[in-house]
Amino acid sequence: MEQLAIMGGKPVREKKIFYGRQCVDETDVEAVKEVLLSDYITCGPAVKKLEKDLADYTGAKYAVAVSNGTAALHCACIAAGLKEGDEVITTPMTFAASANCALYVGATPVFADINPETYNIDPKSIREHITPKTKAVVAVDFTGQCVEQEEIRAICDEFNLIFIEDAAHAIGSAYNGKKVGSLADMTCFSFHPVKTITCGEGGAITTNDAELYHKLYLAHTHGIEKDEAYLEEPSEGVWYYEQVSLGYNYRLTDFQAAMLSNQLKKLDGFKARRQEIVKRYDEAFRNVPGIIVQKEIEESDTCRHLYIIRLDFEKLSCTRREFFDAMSAENVQCQVHYIPVYFFPHYKRLGYERGLCPNAEEIYKGIMSIPLYPSLTDADVEDTIHAVKKVAGYYLK
Ligand SMILES: *Cc1c(COP(=O)(O)O)cnc(C)c1O
Repeated sequence: MEQLAIMGGKPVREKKIFYGRQCVDETDVEAVKEVLLSDYITCGPAVKKLEKDLADYTGAKYAVAVSNGTAALHCACIAAGLKEGDEVITTPMTFAASANCALYVGATPVFADINPETYNIDPKSIREHITPKTKAVVAVDFTGQCVEQEEIRAICDEFNLIFIEDAAHAIGSAYNGKKVGSLADMTCFSFHPVKTITCGEGGAITTNDAELYHKLYLAHTHGIEKDEAYLEEPSEGVWYYEQVSLGYNYRLTDFQAAMLSNQLKKLDGFKARRQEIVKRYDEAFRNVPGIIVQKEIEESDTCRHLYIIRLDFEKLSCTRREFFDAMSAENVQCQVHYIPVYFFPHYKRLGYERGLCPNAEEIYKGIMSIPLYPSLTDADVEDTIHAVKKVAGYYLK
């Protein structure tokens, strides 16, 4: 057996690789440069073009570009009309923003449990958590794999709930042939560097509903109305506008928008490479004792954002921390996605207790995300596989 690097053995790799990394090339730099030297660096034509590109790509009627994915979720909650006393059902197996957005508007996040094999929110658990106060569902396409659209749509229709999809992981994925972004009432994207396409910080919301689009638009730019058709008072001239609701400044700049339009052109290529790596990992890990791989949802054509291995403690003698630290010493830097949201002190102080979602809590104990991004070389992928097998082999009971 190979000696682990953490115990003084030779590491699998010389150079550390991380679990995620942006893919930026000269064409992105050129796109940014062109806008920086143009007349508008914000509120100009590149944002409008990006919104059209996103609508075209996803098949949604409308898109609003915003400053980040959290702003996208906040705008969606505003457009949904959520307020104090309303309940919003979401998953604890996500980044905190999926639940925080409900808190921003005074509503109450309610955590439904996940499916223990796919790790996505379980439609059955959504149903069990519905009360007369429930107004919306924020469903997360975890790791890029689509949530069960049809079941969730049916539940939302039955109980008159707004279906918000947190697709921060899922741009490029499709469900039964339909692209994410065209399916829920509103779909929120993030373009942070760890996500599939990026412009630094960035986000967007897509919708097919004209009224929601109008509300999203107002929410992201101070609630300011310039369209004459919507003015409440007579116009006083070309300078005239009205603030008709309370909005924010969640606008994206034009140079970021230009970069993102350029990234979007490369998305299908990124997706193909991500799928190739996922296939290789799946093959390699399917029969490794002590490692459990995420189950695929058949209807989802997934552009995978994260690759998660789950440690099976019936077969391994180590803790997750020991496994994680051993991987770091092999120079494969992993990450954990995610700590259940209601474990955080802020949520604890709001009265959330452990035990709410037993599946999520159990899954959390053993999960770890390994490197996945398009610019990984085949050798990087094989090193990662080697490191996982080496560490798992060492700790096998
Ligand atoms: C990244 C992420 C967000 C937040 O996006 P930002 O652009 O970082 O604000 C929201 N939800 C999920 C599931 C995410 O992964």
